[in-house]
Amino acid sequence: MERIRFERSVEKAAFFSPLAGMEWAEQTIEVRRDPLTGMTAVASSELATKEETFYGTTDWEYADELARKTREGCFFCPEKVMATTPRYPEDLVAGGRLQRGRALVFPNLFPLAALHAVVTYPGLHFLRPSQFTPDLLEEGLGAAIDFAARAERAYGGLEHLELCCNHMLPAGASLVHPHFQMFGGAAVPWLLRLMWERAAAFQAKHGVAYWQTLVDEETARGERFIAAEAGCTWLSPFAPSGGREVIAVLPGVGRIAELSGEQVAALAAGLSKVLAWYEREGLSAFNFTLGGGPLPGGPLAAGSAGHAVTLRIIARSAFKHEYRTDDYFLQKQLGGELIFIPPEEIAATLRSGFGDG
Ligand SMILES: [Zn+2]
Repeated sequence: MERIRFERSVEKAAFFSPLAGMEWAEQTIEVRRDPLTGMTAVASSELATKEETFYGTTDWEYADELARKTREGCFFCPEKVMATTPRYPEDLVAGGRLQRGRALVFPNLFPLAALHAVVTYPGLHFLRPSQFTPDLLEEGLGAAIDFAARAERAYGGLEHLELCCNHMLPAGASLVHPHFQMFGGAAVPWLLRLMWERAAAFQAKHGVAYWQTLVDEETARGERFIAAEAGCTWLSPFAPSGGREVIAVLPGVGRIAELSGEQVAALAAGLSKVLAWYEREGLSAFNFTLGGGPLPGGPLAAGSAGHAVTLRIIARSAFKHEYRTDDYFLQKQLGGELIFIPPEEIAATLRSGFGDG
């Protein structure tokens, strides 16, 4: 029995087209479904040429100007960060803020969940995607994982905990200063819950974990496989949920606090490669989410075998004057995404040299 279905359907749109001298012309539209969530991603024969119109090319002069203008008075920069950001109790973190290398963790002043922390690099007010080096990311992710383990022990009733990032304005960042956010509480976001429910149902039906099966299947097929190291497999998803999406899957790890130092280093190295590729392609804004299955102790954790830590990375509209959002009715209200570059082509591009230092 086929356990994972890579389902796609094709439909045609036809009209008298000015692109064909007002002759009758057909365009082919391919709709893919994510094998876990069922989310749809749409590719059309004409979209490949439209990515520049949708995502644009970064105006780095404008970005540098914004970085200069916001440097003075920035709450995350060294002159202010210790005086103007909140602190945690001493029994959670000695000194109130967790420091690891250049990274610092402290509470978000305007939390949206019981545990909503900021992870930033106070000494680095602005970073282009390629400047998130493996070492720097390892310090930031490492600080977050360390904090996640402490938070799991200290906070009762946490059901979920993720490490997320909005980088630059088009990705939703309100501050230019690079930062990540740890987001955890009792109310599980609906998409996360759907993924957990589907993964648990898959496990119950097939007796094997969805994520392990996905990794095995994609590794065997090869066309969307990018690299594998330290139990971490990098893929270009069949039905992407955002621009140039790349995911890392760690089937043997159920939650982020369980990640080993070696796995954090592998995630940092791979993430750095993806971000550098975005910048080479003229992009600058991105989101990522690193998360796992239900946290232990909560009701959702019962029978929770089959979950995995995943890192999902997407590119957003490039930062420039008059950039347009890449989220419109399709993404925000109908729940679908566009495919400009086939995932198989993305994987082929990234596969070369991905595992090299
Ligand atoms: Zn700053």
